[in-house]
Amino acid sequence: MNIEMNENTTLYGIIGHPLGHTLSPAVHNSAFRACGIDAVYLPFETLDPFTCLKAAKALPIKGLSVTIPYKSLIVKHLDFVELTAARIGAVNTVINRGGKLHGYNTDASAAREALEDVLKPQETTCLVLGAGGAARAVGFALKGVCRSLTIANRTARHAEELARSLGCGWVGLSDVCDVKADLVINTTPVGMHPQTGSIPVPERALEHASAVMDIIYRPKRTALLELAERKGCRTIRGEEMFLRQAAAQFRLWTGFEAPFERMKDTFEGAMKGIK
Ligand code: NAP
Repeated sequence: MNIEMNENTTLYGIIGHPLGHTLSPAVHNSAFRACGIDAVYLPFETLDPFTCLKAAKALPIKGLSVTIPYKSLIVKHLDFVELTAARIGAVNTVINRGGKLHGYNTDASAAREALEDVLKPQETTCLVLGAGGAARAVGFALKGVCRSLTIANRTARHAEELARSLGCGWVGLSDVCDVKADLVINTTPVGMHPQTGSIPVPERALEHASAVMDIIYRPKRTALLELAERKGCRTIRGEEMFLRQAAAQFRLWTGFEAPFERMKDTFEGAMKGIK
């Protein structure tokens, strides 16, 4: 996409590592164009998120998306964290208000909306794979809504910490097949571009599942979702959450309703020809 800039153009970006998979710049730049907003959104792949935050404060960078692996890490480095994001313990959206960085979380509401059709309140038993920043948001979205919630994670200590803050159960990844869950949600990066062949759990972990969501959006159909489809499960793709969290970010940054269909079209266009 060719983007015109001038001395008044407002700057936004995304910090994370790796960022090779991200379609956030394409989607946000197209939303700015659609709404006639003079702004540009750039990828800032970094191993040093804290220096990036300092730079954002000092420079006229108006907003940032935050992604893997920094959503939880940056919380303590912000000037203000909105209540829901503070409760979740993860921030995916930063607004720079006069040199003060304000943190928000749009992942949780996006996950809840994406799961609306498959989640039966107080009935569904849920298994969340992963205990990172995205898992915090997904767990928060499910907390109190489903019948039971279990976190499964590679590092037991992280699973235990998240489970304690959510008031739910947890298992190590090696025991994941013992969990009987109707709905399985992958929030780990296992299966994400470019390692698209990988699956985060053995097939047996889906034994009781009727629905599987993978929050990875690149590729559209992850190996986990292909397996779930073969087993007759309903599947929810990562883009369902991705587009909603991006639209909520756009609203927070600009105060305007997001051009959702345009963002979706841009996403679809960008996905064509890439895996
Ligand atoms: P994060 O904070 O770094 O957490 C990653 C989690 O995955 C951790 O629990 C980690 O376990 C686990 N993990 C990492 N590599 C693993 C491996 N090889 N095997 C097993 N477990 C592994 O990252 P995040 O911000 O939560 O993001 C996670 C994924 O979600 C990324 O792919 C990101 O793109 C995607 N995401 C999508 C959306 C969306 O809108 N669709 C929104 C947010 C995130 P340990 O605790 O053992 O390290």
